[in-house]
Amino acid sequence: MLSALWISNEFMMFLARTRLWLSSIQHGFVAVLPIIFLGALALTFSQITSYVPSLKDHIVFQISQWIMNATYGALAVSLCASISYQLIKTYRSQYDLVVDVHIVSLMAAVTLVAVTFLQGYEQGQFDLGFDQMIQAMCVAILFTELFVIWMRFAPLQLSYLDHEIHGQLSMTLRMIIPGLITPLSVIALYYFVLMDVDWLSRLTLWIIGDVDPAQGTTLWQNIRIVVINQLFWFVGIHGSTVISSVASELHMFNQGQNFSGEIINHFAYIGGSGCTLGLVMVLFFSRRQSNRHFARYAMLPSLFNINELVIFGLPIIFNRYLFLPFLLMPLLGLVLTYFVTSLGWVTFVNADVNWSMPLLLSGYLLADHWGGAVLQLLICVLSACVYWPFLKRHEASQNRKQKQKISHLINEISHVDFDVKHAYLQPNDVGVFCRRINLDLDELDNFELYYQPKLDHQGNVQGAEALIRWHHPVFGGLPPSVFIPIAEVSGKIHRIGLWVVERCFRDMNIMQRNHGFKPIPIAINVSPIQFTHPQFVSELKRLIKQYDVNPRMLELEITEGQKLKLTDQLVEELRQLSVMGISIAVDDFGMGHTSLHYLKSFPVHTIKIDGEIIQDVVRSGLIQEIVQSMGQLAHGMNAKLVAEWVEEEDQLMMLHKLGCDLYQGKHFSMPLPLPELMAYCVSHQKLA
Ligand code: C2E
Ligand code: MG
Ligand code: MG
Repeated sequence: MLSALWISNEFMMFLARTRLWLSSIQHGFVAVLPIIFLGALALTFSQITSYVPSLKDHIVFQISQWIMNATYGALAVSLCASISYQLIKTYRSQYDLVVDVHIVSLMAAVTLVAVTFLQGYEQGQFDLGFDQMIQAMCVAILFTELFVIWMRFAPLQLSYLDHEIHGQLSMTLRMIIPGLITPLSVIALYYFVLMDVDWLSRLTLWIIGDVDPAQGTTLWQNIRIVVINQLFWFVGIHGSTVISSVASELHMFNQGQNFSGEIINHFAYIGGSGCTLGLVMVLFFSRRQSNRHFARYAMLPSLFNINELVIFGLPIIFNRYLFLPFLLMPLLGLVLTYFVTSLGWVTFVNADVNWSMPLLLSGYLLADHWGGAVLQLLICVLSACVYWPFLKRHEASQNRKQKQKISHLINEISHVDFDVKHAYLQPNDVGVFCRRINLDLDELDNFELYYQPKLDHQGNVQGAEALIRWHHPVFGGLPPSVFIPIAEVSGKIHRIGLWVVERCFRDMNIMQRNHGFKPIPIAINVSPIQFTHPQFVSELKRLIKQYDVNPRMLELEITEGQKLKLTDQLVEELRQLSVMGISIAVDDFGMGHTSLHYLKSFPVHTIKIDGEIIQDVVRSGLIQEIVQSMGQLAHGMNAKLVAEWVEEEDQLMMLHKLGCDLYQGKHFSMPLPLPELMAYCVSHQKLA
């Protein structure tokens, strides 16, 4: 019983670890996408020389060839470093390791080179590109796992470094012993255990079986070839390279056979592998903007049968939604072509057609008849139809994941202790999200201004607070607690703040012109950062004049979130505003130093109690005392005490007893658009 429990525990741990490896591999692939993009574009470009050989020596095409060699030639090294980086990052936080993650990933890449040398020495060849992709994944995982074990092994820790102040030096020195042992262990493991690299080719040959040189591969053997090719591509290994390494033994490209490797390339794989040209076509009709954009990039390479962008970029690798069509569609293409040829509708000739020859042209040349092109087109359309429902499911999962991620990020950013200033520059998801939000803040079209009524205890509306709303085109409604702090850090709050003032004044005009409606004072939230702009107060005064707003109907709410720098000039400006008749409110008033500092520095007409405090007012005697003393403080300086986040009747009664003057919250109404606010006021106003 106990041992069964132990085994199941071990199994769960192994599963969790496997999941972590898979996710590191996936993220590793995503991170090297720019390199794959560059390589795919260079390859697409250099393919032009296959059709115009005279261009081969032109410097532009030579450069594209070099770029392709550099990117694809070192892809395995980049991938190894990238996977190791993803994995060690997780372990660093899981085990509190003091390691430089970049150095660890570089060491993993160096180890891969050593392992490749080891194998190259045996075989007289050396390659760090697509052929080594599977090796790259294995070495990255193996290296990082072993490195973490050595790193956590106490006797290998150089304890004298514990008191070393030079951070980078001590961190690097700490990594020296594990950094020596790990590559040696990996190399030794390869030398004694995993040395046999040709196992992939041998396995492939074994699965396909013996081939008659005169006949070439049979239909069943071709089906197996296609399945192997697809399975390899699905895990990120260049399937065609594996197959082409054994192509001669399979007599795939022998002259005189009726079904050669070229036919499979151009009638089953269309687009590179997996008949993905059909997938790229339907991507153009995707609901997700990012997928439609992606289709634009992937179309040209796909036409030349270069499918790395689709495989790694969409991605198809390890994508459980697209696995089935990716496996089945080329099989369908293959069987359909067999069927059509066996009926004699299309016959193939011995044409020498390059693998990168585009759709239709290759079909026409291989059949020496337009029937070949029509067959290709038919398979391609069929592929689009087959991929469509699977793509929909993939997109639904993409949407679900994005929603979860966004709500997680929103929660994180909205937290009171969140430091936007710090997060904004971080290279992680939160940093990227903040910067993306900041970019989109330039577009003011999606902003709206809502108003939350403020009432007295008898239920009469006495004013309203203007609150900004933003419907982000991609992320949907985002709360101000997310984007206002970002706008404060980037400085965009100045432009947004003036938009709020102007929109609010326009709405006040509308209220004023509406007969049978008693205009109410409106409070605008002003971030302390806005006051640092030298023109803020003068702009405010200008807009008051332009919109002919009665300053007595205007209140400015200053929050405690960001510290207000109380310069002499600002104190003077606040006094002037107050002389004009504008009220000043201190928002989210707590027991903080800043709140009290404000009270003694400039005229304050309203104190708004921090909503968090109100939540506990019924239950906590201490909070009741605090609110009561705030009331005394406010009334002592001739100011009003306002309670926000009033959600229940009990709270309202208690707050009234403790001396609050006005109330705002869910109990009465959440923020409303202007027409609804006006309707609310009409039914909750005493027309004295
Ligand atoms: P705030 O000024 O303290 O605004 C009150 C917040 O409490 C609003 O959140 C409001 O929707 C929410 N609220 C109202 N009733 C209830 C209730 O019964 N329960 C709870 N839990 N919450 C309630 P919102 O609109 O998300 O705004 C958050 C903060 O963003 C505001 O806090 C304010 O500091 C800032 N903000 C909003 N609009 C603007 C703006 O136009 N300019 C500037 N600078 N800041 C703004
Ligand atoms: Mg406020
Ligand atoms: Mg507040």
